[in-house]
Amino acid sequence: MTLEADTPVQYVPGVGPRRARLLEKLEIRQAKDFLFHVPRRYEEYQPVSSISQLYEGGRFIFKARVFHLQLRKPRPGLTLLEAVLGDGSGQVMAVWFNQPYLREKLQVNGEYLFRGEVKRHGRWLQAVHPEVGDGERAFPSILPVYPSAGGISQKLWLRWTEAALPLARGMEDHLPPELEASAGGLTYAQALQAIHRPRRGEEAEKARKRLALSELFYLQLGLGLFRHQVRSSRRQLVYRPEGFLAKRFREILPFTLTQAQEKAMAEIERDLLSPHPMNRLLQGDVGSGKTVVLTWALLRAVENGYQAAIMAPTEILAYQHWQRMEAWFTQLKVPALLLVGAQKPSEKRIAYRALKEGHAAVAIGTHALLQEGVEFQRLGLVVTDEQHRFGVRQRLALLSKGEEPDLLVASATPIPRSLALVAYGDLDLSVMDEMPRGRQPVRTLWRPSRLRPKIYQWLYDRVRAGERAYIICPLVEEGEGDQKEAAAAEVWWEKVKREAPDIPSGLLHGRLTNQEKMAAMEAFARGETRILVATTVVEVGIDVPEATLMIIEGAERFGLAQLHQLRGRIGRGKDPSTCVLIGDPKSEVAKERLEVLTREQNGFRIAEEDLRLRGPGEMLGTRQHGVPELRFADLVRDQELLHRAREAARAILAEDPHLSAPDKEPLRRRLEEVFGDTLGRALLH
Ligand code: ADP
Ligand code: MG
Repeated sequence: MTLEADTPVQYVPGVGPRRARLLEKLEIRQAKDFLFHVPRRYEEYQPVSSISQLYEGGRFIFKARVFHLQLRKPRPGLTLLEAVLGDGSGQVMAVWFNQPYLREKLQVNGEYLFRGEVKRHGRWLQAVHPEVGDGERAFPSILPVYPSAGGISQKLWLRWTEAALPLARGMEDHLPPELEASAGGLTYAQALQAIHRPRRGEEAEKARKRLALSELFYLQLGLGLFRHQVRSSRRQLVYRPEGFLAKRFREILPFTLTQAQEKAMAEIERDLLSPHPMNRLLQGDVGSGKTVVLTWALLRAVENGYQAAIMAPTEILAYQHWQRMEAWFTQLKVPALLLVGAQKPSEKRIAYRALKEGHAAVAIGTHALLQEGVEFQRLGLVVTDEQHRFGVRQRLALLSKGEEPDLLVASATPIPRSLALVAYGDLDLSVMDEMPRGRQPVRTLWRPSRLRPKIYQWLYDRVRAGERAYIICPLVEEGEGDQKEAAAAEVWWEKVKREAPDIPSGLLHGRLTNQEKMAAMEAFARGETRILVATTVVEVGIDVPEATLMIIEGAERFGLAQLHQLRGRIGRGKDPSTCVLIGDPKSEVAKERLEVLTREQNGFRIAEEDLRLRGPGEMLGTRQHGVPELRFADLVRDQELLHRAREAARAILAEDPHLSAPDKEPLRRRLEEVFGDTLGRALLH
């Protein structure tokens, strides 16, 4: 069967329906997708001409004669085929486990080609499980190793990628000529071939760079196009300089604003007064005081006669915003309302009407605010808070509503600038990297799990003395889902109740209803419960300033940014706080990562460290940001490529901001492929 690029993966030989489902999870749906399954590393084998050249720890391809062959069964279920191989220069042992059929293939005195790793066994060098070459066919000396899942063997990956490689032949990526010229002389098709079947190690890296350049270029082109769209549209909203409401708000705050807050507000103000819509990302470290800035922005819209909406990622957070902001809004006589899924239909209907008829000036809620036929009379500003998932896609959806409100996106996940360029290349960036005065660092310790009993005793004692504590349960294995997580959380809660029956405690996890979650949060906030056992549900935004203690279980399983977020739940008041990370990291890198948290409080620097230690993939979770996933590019190593790609994309857009010239047709088509149909078309509308 010859494969077409779009042949469903199920029909690729050796796949079938069951493996097709596994592959789907790796985003491999069609035959051509195998081309974009990038080898994780390569194994290089050194072809040698004589056995005397073999050494311990190397990987070799060598020709040898079988001198001796013996099949043993040391115990049931284990067969051991042992051989002595040799040539004129020396001898080496070889061993195969549970491959009795090789006994038939190999003949004493026959000469074969072998490929494998050489180790030491007593006084002998031993080739462990070497592959045996078929006749004259030589082995390639470099072998890709693919990331896998569900027990799919490397043999299968090799077979599938081999089958897909002919599809690469016709592929082009239409890089602009200057960029192509700087890309090391490989065409796109050659690079795809070479990344899967390099002839030498350097060739694989060269191919990767060529593909990364293409990837980064189209990403920057798409983001740049979007940015141009926003920039080129004229503002329909008209703002006067700061008025009564915003000024009054500053006065009623019980503290003075930090410089970082002032600076962010000045940047937002400039956007509001500019001739183009605002499209801004406010990045602030955990606890840097974003809520105040966002509230001020909402009031700026209201005092200019517009409605404003603020969206949180979860209902608990929306509710918490409501509780905090309602007090301000009441004082300022600004009519505001809460809109979340959990409300009664009758309540919702009233809210809908108030928004449509303009009686409500501010709406606080979840994403639902933008959907479900919610209509505003004069929506001027949309704010999203703590939003990791509000990507290009959603931003576009919003703009395509035709209303073109200003957009302010707040994120509490500090990311290094190089990543921000990629993930949010279409947004202007404001950074708040300063904490309000008087904030104390959270003392952070890392302890192995064998000290757990002591740590819990310490925690119970401190709680009995009046403090409040979070206990964060370990992450469950990926894919096990909410149910398992909830069950695990129950177990931790039981432990706490058993060990400290005198301390009132509560439980918070994702399987609870929103009412139950809010009840658990409120009981803890009011101090009715003094320990809150929780999953990562508490990760973002929760603000209980009286909580001063935290234990994070299974700390090595969390991402650094996530640990920093979790830890940010304490240290929010005036009292000193302590966070204990309990974990038994196995590798040096994993240890180093926990160490980073114990010495570093600044989220931006933690993000840099994380990037350095682990690479960008996990931290960025690019797909969550609504940008296409990066397969080839490595943002740590490829900063220079990123820079080049960005310059090239800019140059093209400077000349032709909508890519409308006929010779841009290939670029347009490629963008649609990269960003997917809907988004691609919207970009190129
Ligand atoms: P985040 O940026 O993590 O969303 P919040 O907006 O929740 O942070 O603010 C954290 C805490 O800091 C809140 O209790 C808030 O009232 C307080 N806060 C904000 N700005 C200041 C300031 N300038 N001075 C003192 N406290 C502040
Ligand atoms: Mg916040």
